[in-house]
Amino acid sequence: MTHPIIPTLILKPKREKSLVGRHPWIFSGAVNRAPGDIQAGDTVDVLAADGRWLARAAYSPRSQIRARVWTFDASEAIDAGFFDRQLQRALCLRKSIIDPSETNAFRLVSAESDGLPGLIVDRYDRWLVCQFLTTGAEKWKATIVEALARHMPDCKGIFERSDVDVRKKEGLKPVTGTLWGDDPPDHIDIVENGCHYRIDVRKGHKTGFYLDQRDNRAWVAAHAAGAEMLNCFAYTGGFAVAALAAGATRVVNVDASAGALDLAREHVSINALNDRWVEYKTGDAFSLLRQYADAGRHFDLIVLDPPKFVKSKGDLMRASRGYKDINRLAFMLLNPKGTLFTFSCSGLMGRDLFQKIVADAALDAGRRAVILRWLSQAPDHPTALSFPEGSYLKGLICRVD
Ligand code: SAH
Repeated sequence: MTHPIIPTLILKPKREKSLVGRHPWIFSGAVNRAPGDIQAGDTVDVLAADGRWLARAAYSPRSQIRARVWTFDASEAIDAGFFDRQLQRALCLRKSIIDPSETNAFRLVSAESDGLPGLIVDRYDRWLVCQFLTTGAEKWKATIVEALARHMPDCKGIFERSDVDVRKKEGLKPVTGTLWGDDPPDHIDIVENGCHYRIDVRKGHKTGFYLDQRDNRAWVAAHAAGAEMLNCFAYTGGFAVAALAAGATRVVNVDASAGALDLAREHVSINALNDRWVEYKTGDAFSLLRQYADAGRHFDLIVLDPPKFVKSKGDLMRASRGYKDINRLAFMLLNPKGTLFTFSCSGLMGRDLFQKIVADAALDAGRRAVILRWLSQAPDHPTALSFPEGSYLKGLICRVD
């Protein structure tokens, strides 16, 4: 068998440490000599300054992350067989952690943490929805789609939602559309822990739903019986439906998007939940929290699940003020013995800083509170130990006196 000659990317001296620790990113600043005549997304061999072989990676000439590792095994070729093996591995993990009697929607491939940088694949019932975020993933699109269709013969179609900002950093344009099989319907019906949701895979956030919050919806349900709830940043009402199904007596949903709240209303209706005391407020959660605080309103259960406030390291200070503001207001609005579920999906905000912000917020609100539990993303969004950046969602259940 002849091996094709693979172009090489040579690192600067002493810049191999993270790769030796199996971290999959090679930053532009670590590169001494980039390969000459190759296309974005092509495979390169990454060598240390002394010529030692380190990894095989996808080259990304436009991005600050100049290459992303496919394999740390020198004998492993990057070809259809490689993608087949990685997908099988990802599928095998999901089979062991997702109980099909609980849900028919889960993340099948979670990029770097599944050894497939730049690739996201979510499953909604009989449909797969993919995001190709990097030039490497983009180059292997046809191979990946073929393997997905082969491994999941019960799927009806594979849809692409690569309309995300991060592609710009790679020099890629946004694209959406059917990649294989039939076009998805306007809404795909999914079930999660007995609750039904209708997923708009064409226009919904991410690939349509916040699958990463699945376990946290169950935790909210566990605290919801008899509660009056304020659901801030409600999107399509995932937390509200879980809470109402578990016996919440009243829910106020707040979101900036009227369309998302329309779908939340539909979710309450298709689950045959008592909608008499469910409100939908389109607008800014910060101002509504302030209004409620001024009016002296109180709730037993508050969920704060804001969008990613920290997009780059430079945002951290401003974002921290934002997190502190909403958490302080939420603490003010809690009834005695009330519970706050507070989240941050900003990967750049560490757990320690988040806990400190929430602690400062409670202090400013004059509330004594304890942490009942730390929360994170559901296990179908795993974090490779060598890739701590994969752990982005963090949350706290706090209870006040
Ligand atoms: N909790 C949701 C996901 C929230 S995503 C779930 O579990 O499904 C963040 C949501 O915040 C989005 O729906 C977005 O429309 C909304 N949003 C963004 N900025 C906002 C603001 N200032 N006030 C209210 N909602 C906002």
